[in-house]
This record gives sequence, C-alpha cells and structure tokens, in this order.
Amino acid sequence: MTNNDTHDWSTAGFATRAIHAGQDPDAATGAVVPPIYQVSTYKQDGVGNLRGGYEYSRSGNPTRTALEDALAAVEGGERAFAFSSGLAAEDVLLRAVCTPGSHVVMPDDAYGGTYRLIARVHGPWGVEHTPADMCDAGAVAAAVRPGQTRVVWVETPSNPLLGVADIAALAKVAHDAGAILVVDNTFATPALQTPLALGADVVVHSTTKYIGGHSDVVGGAVVVGAGIELPAGAAGPTGTTSVADAVGFYQNAAGAVAGPFDAWLTLRGLKTLDVRMQRHSQNAMEIAQLLAAHPKVTQVIYPGLPEHEQHIVAASQMRAFGGMISFRTGSLDSALQVVDRTKVFTLAESLGGVESLIEHPGKMTHASVAGSALEVPDDLVRVSVGIEDVADLRADLEQALDG
Ligand SMILES: *Cc1c(COP(=O)(O)O)cnc(C)c1O
Repeated sequence: MTNNDTHDWSTAGFATRAIHAGQDPDAATGAVVPPIYQVSTYKQDGVGNLRGGYEYSRSGNPTRTALEDALAAVEGGERAFAFSSGLAAEDVLLRAVCTPGSHVVMPDDAYGGTYRLIARVHGPWGVEHTPADMCDAGAVAAAVRPGQTRVVWVETPSNPLLGVADIAALAKVAHDAGAILVVDNTFATPALQTPLALGADVVVHSTTKYIGGHSDVVGGAVVVGAGIELPAGAAGPTGTTSVADAVGFYQNAAGAVAGPFDAWLTLRGLKTLDVRMQRHSQNAMEIAQLLAAHPKVTQVIYPGLPEHEQHIVAASQMRAFGGMISFRTGSLDSALQVVDRTKVFTLAESLGGVESLIEHPGKMTHASVAGSALEVPDDLVRVSVGIEDVADLRADLEQALDG
C-alpha cells in the first residue's frame, strides 16, 4: 500500500470525493478505476470464511460497493444502497419504514411514478397518503398525523413544477410528528444541494438522471444519514431500529440491486457530476431568461429566476439552480407544437443527460397522475437543458416558439 491506496476522503471537497471516495486503486492490480466485477458468487476460504465479506452478488458486489461508498460520501451520509432503478430504491425505503396503517405525506406535484408507487402499490397494503404543498411548511404541518405519519416525502426542486421546499423547515415538521424526512434529490443532485446537512434523514435518487448523466443506464439509490432511527413504533425486519440496517435487509431480501455494469456506468457518471451541473446550471439560466422575454411564453418556472416564488429559499439551500425548466405556452396546442418542432432538444421522457430533452408532462411523464390531485397544467412544457453550446439551444427554442 503506497500513495493513495487507502485514503480518507471524508474531508475532501465535493468534486474530489465524487472522483475518489470508494474508488481506491484496485488492491490486486492497481487499476485506477474500480473494475466491473461481473460475477455472481465468490470462493470461500473455508465455510463462511469470506474474502472482503463477499459471498453472493445480490448481497454484495465490489463494483456496487464502490458506487455505494461514493454516493454516501457525496451526500454526506452514513451508508448508501444502490438499486436497479429509482423506483426500486423508493420501494425498499417505504417497505423499511412503513407498515400497514402507516401514513405518508407526499408532494402534491410528486414525480408521477412516486405517486403511483405510494398510492397504487403501497396503498393496497394499508399505507395511507396525503398530498400536500411542500412549499408551504404550514400545509405540511396540517397534513401530518403525529404518531401515524412515518414519512414526510419531498422533492425539491419538484418534478415538473419546480417548486422549492424549505428542507430545514420540513425536517422540523417531520421530526415534531415523529416521522422521518425523505428528500428526493434527483433534480438538484449533491453537487448543488445536500439535504442531510439541512436536517433531512434520508436521500433518494433516480441515478438514471444527473448522477448517471449520459442517458445510458437506469438506477436508483437510498442514502441514509448518520445514526438515523426508524420512527417510534416501527419495528425493523430483523428487530433493528436503524433505518440503514432495515434498508440493507430489504435490498438483499427483495433483491432489486444495481448490477455490476450499471453500477460502473453510474460511478463513471458521478466523477463528472460537479462540472456537468455547473454547465447545466449556466445554460439553464440563459435559457430561462430567453423564455421569460419571449412573447409566446406565458410563464417560466426556474428556481434561479428572481420571480420564482421560492427563489430565496432556493438561493439559500442550493449552490446553483440546476438544468430543469418548465414553461407554459397558453394552450395545449401551442405546447404540443413547441415540443414537436425542436431539433436540438430531443422529444423524450427522462432528464439529466448531457443532451437537451423536451417533453409535454401532461401527456408523457405525468400522464399517470391525470385526474388526481397531482394533475399538471396541459400547456406545460418541461425542458432538461443539456451541456451543448448554449447558442444552439437558444436558436432551437426560438425557432420552435416562433414556428
Ligand atoms: C425518474 C425519477 C424517479 C424514478 O426513477 P427511475 O430511475 O425512473 O425508477 C424518481 N424521482 C424523480 C424526481 C425522477 O425524476
């Protein structure tokens, strides 16, 4: 062992942690990038005598461990768990914390898949939910049921309406009710916002989006803060009172783990997260200003604009404002025309990749919440601003709006 073979990265800066934490050179070969351990099982040196704790790749795989250690380091958490999708990560967290009769307060503009998971998968198993406006801590305080609410779930910025919730204020509301605060940090990423440092208990991610960053892998993560306990009355599956231990149990017992190649791709993306988020944020700010000045746009929603309703909260808890913008065009027809006419912005669901995407939430990503409290306006267009040359992005949106 020489040089940086085993270094403590916990006090290093964000970009350094993203590149090095969990990713020490390979002990056997010195490979500077964690290898893809494309393997299901491991030789035991005598029954139960495991090398490095590995016995079977659902339970543990070194490439996945590298990703999990890196994710814990960048979010400032105690432990992280990597899954085959963001929804698999969310599902395990809900199973770990809720039991029949539990109650969840969730955003009234949550990601549609999160709403479907809570309402239509966990609902029939007895988990109740109340949608609330997460930008209004008073509304959340009115929605919690002390003793019954186990989880206050927040997305900030939210998808697709880009509401910004005050994480520190909601942590207090959740804790006063005996619940934990879960933050879906997919949009901001730890490069721009670290919820655990603001008082949240758990962070979840769709690593499919910015962390992976190249639209080539689906994945998810749960990151648990230091020493976080299950809400009173929640008995962990193994008798544990630790959220991390309960999540670890369900990750292995339910089995929706990230595969080695997916973990490796996600880790590769994480290394450049810091520079990508800077460029996404710069480009998005320019595009938001262009849209705000355009006569065919009736409203622009971007947390970086001073006119955004929660701009002050965003400025206080985010280091920059990210790459997501939503805007309204006044009618369904004009919204559909705009998303049809762009050439650099690709018409597609998902977000957070290096390439710019455009979509109509009402008919695409959020079609599953039509008719519910979470329905979105039908003239809403959402863009995921990529890291291309901003002049090309501007010209493309201008021609699409001008028709
Ligand atoms: C995409 C997304 C999810 C779901 O993640 P998958 O990886 O698609 O399962 C959850 N939350 C947010 C905010 C998302 O954008």
